Amino acid sequence: MARDRLADLTAAPGERRHGWITVPGIEPEWRVPAVVVRGRADGPTLAVTSGMHAAEYVPIEAVTRLTRWVDPATLRGTLLAVLCVNTPGFYERAIYVNPRDGRNLNREFPGDPQGSASQRVAAFLLAELIDGVDAYVDAHCGDLIEALAPFTLWTRAGDPRVAEQSRAMSRAYGFERSLGVEPDSVPGAAYASAALRGVPAIIAEIGQQGICDEPSVARHLRGLQNVMAHLGMVDALGPAPAPPVPMDRMEWMRTDISATYHPTVAVGDRVEAGQPVGELRDIFGETVRELAACASGDVVFLVTALAVKAGDPLLGIGVPQG
Ligand SMILES: [Zn+2]
Repeated sequence: MARDRLADLTAAPGERRHGWITVPGIEPEWRVPAVVVRGRADGPTLAVTSGMHAAEYVPIEAVTRLTRWVDPATLRGTLLAVLCVNTPGFYERAIYVNPRDGRNLNREFPGDPQGSASQRVAAFLLAELIDGVDAYVDAHCGDLIEALAPFTLWTRAGDPRVAEQSRAMSRAYGFERSLGVEPDSVPGAAYASAALRGVPAIIAEIGQQGICDEPSVARHLRGLQNVMAHLGMVDALGPAPAPPVPMDRMEWMRTDISATYHPTVAVGDRVEAGQPVGELRDIFGETVRELAACASGDVVFLVTALAVKAGDPLLGIGVPQG
């Protein structure tokens, strides 16, 4: 059903409103830029977030454009959007975490209204934005130091009907790869938390390395538009996209030491388990670890910083089904 508000930001039928909304109980104040576009006609409500990770610029730009593209005169239902969740990190160009409490917002769901800043933001978004809507998309890309091949994730857990709707949104988005994950593998992720509460949800990723490039922005925007068409909120923009290659799972390689990182593969490369994929060196250039692929599949995520810290991810391999 068409919602008329996001927290205290309300819109009448046929109206587009934008403004800052304040997350309660956080000092200094934490405000997020939000938009409510309410169609003249009734229909579903889609919630969208970007900037959960503050230096992921492609989704921030794509969601901003989506809110300006949607025409409230012809929209069926309501679009609710938070354009940048991690505002304290945005002008700092902070990677992974928000600077207030050093936590990764997308590991903090369902959050805690009495907890740290990140936990309060997560709880607020669930209560005011996500709970009770018909669908939710969390838009991401590779972070400032990450190269990435496009993919969408949905969760297999919870109500099978919700899982099936999430999978259909993932297919509609139009990215090359899709993975249905168990929520244990992404503890605290917003989309998994939403799905467990009965809201069909996906995370969608395209773009990388702090570059706000037009092709990636256009494809993220088209993915969001495709989901709106899939939900019946707008007319389809063109033929349905090619179905994604389903992935069986994502395998992560991490470093156990702080070192310099010298990968020899690129995102999109197909690797075989055991194949060399790079090495770690000490600051004098001496090789201290030779890295072998932990699984066979496609490199979908690759850290591109020379400096890596003990515990950091190095690369992610999307293992195809079958
Ligand atoms: Zn992200």
